[in-house]
Amino acid sequence: MIPFNKPYMTGNEIENISQAYLKKQLAGDGYFTNKCEYWLDRLTGTKKSLLTNSCTSALEIASILANIQKGDEIILPSFTFVSTANSFVIRGGKPVFVDIRKDTLNIDESLIEPAITDKTKAIIVVHYAGVACEMEKINSIAKKHNLLVIEDSAHGVCCYYKGLPLGSLGDFGCYSFHETKNLISGHGGALLINNSQYIDRAEIIRERGTNRKEFSEGKVDKYSWNDIGSSYMQGELVAAFLWAQLEAAKSINSKRIAIWNIYKEGFKGLEKKGVLRTPYVPTYCKHSGHIFYLILKDQKMRNSFISKMKEQSISCLFHYIPLHESSYAKKLNLDHNELPITKSISNRIVRLPLWLGIEDKLDYIITKAHEFIK
Ligand SMILES: *Cc1c(COP(=O)(O)O)cnc(C)c1O
Repeated sequence: MIPFNKPYMTGNEIENISQAYLKKQLAGDGYFTNKCEYWLDRLTGTKKSLLTNSCTSALEIASILANIQKGDEIILPSFTFVSTANSFVIRGGKPVFVDIRKDTLNIDESLIEPAITDKTKAIIVVHYAGVACEMEKINSIAKKHNLLVIEDSAHGVCCYYKGLPLGSLGDFGCYSFHETKNLISGHGGALLINNSQYIDRAEIIRERGTNRKEFSEGKVDKYSWNDIGSSYMQGELVAAFLWAQLEAAKSINSKRIAIWNIYKEGFKGLEKKGVLRTPYVPTYCKHSGHIFYLILKDQKMRNSFISKMKEQSISCLFHYIPLHESSYAKKLNLDHNELPITKSISNRIVRLPLWLGIEDKLDYIITKAHEFIK
């Protein structure tokens, strides 16, 4: 079976982990955490990055920093992973879903303003497949209505919008290093704080609501309960693993892009004939080859494609079940407009396997795919 995903390891992870072991640094905020955060700061120009134990945790910290209270509304796409919504719902926030653009599958910026009410607190954008949302427009809407912008940039590490790094464009940016992403640590993430007024509070929230950070810096002689918070820190052994990945980020991403380009070229003919669609990347966006998808004619075609590929030992997947159609959203009884593009895309999209090492199987995958798409 050709798996859908296969985590890539550089080989240096284990050496870094043994260094952390020998340093007896375990809980986090040690040598490797600092190295990773410094690297992220340099990459993105953010005011401060903080490693977290997941992108979900980074989103939750952002939700606390945004001071989301019961009944506050957040605007976001329905075509996304659960955490984009749940990190705000957990604070009492009410998701207001808007539709996505047909081309990039990102939030349709022209639908944001009509969704704003006097309860709206924040706009949560998702840079799907590391292709940027229309941030100039979105930031100007946010400024006009005094809203925060939070980037779910789980797919967007090392991706750019008009030369600017994703995750550095809103008030907060959230990265994922989950093993299914490009750069991995198992379970891991980072919060990028792009507005320095939030840094101190973010560090307290990440440390279970304590000022442990000031204590370890010798600024206070005891640390205590300062605020709400939780255990959002990335463990040091995991940061040690991550450091090996960040050092290799350039080569990992360029190999993924090369695979992505082979797929893109391989389906050009069918796309020209109008049989399917491949990902669209605006010229001013730089992605990192995280996802390669096809959009087929209809749901029936998509489902039969997945099962026929499986019979040929090729594992293809689809996502997302639109959040507004999930059983939990129904329980929340959210009212929302029709989301026709979200619905249509989620019925027709299929993702092809993409991982380092798959290169010599691409011909086979593309050939088989052609047999099943007519
Ligand atoms: C993977 C993912 C997340 C969650 O990341 P974790 O690190 O697993 O918490 C959030 N949003 C999107 C769009 C994702 O793809």
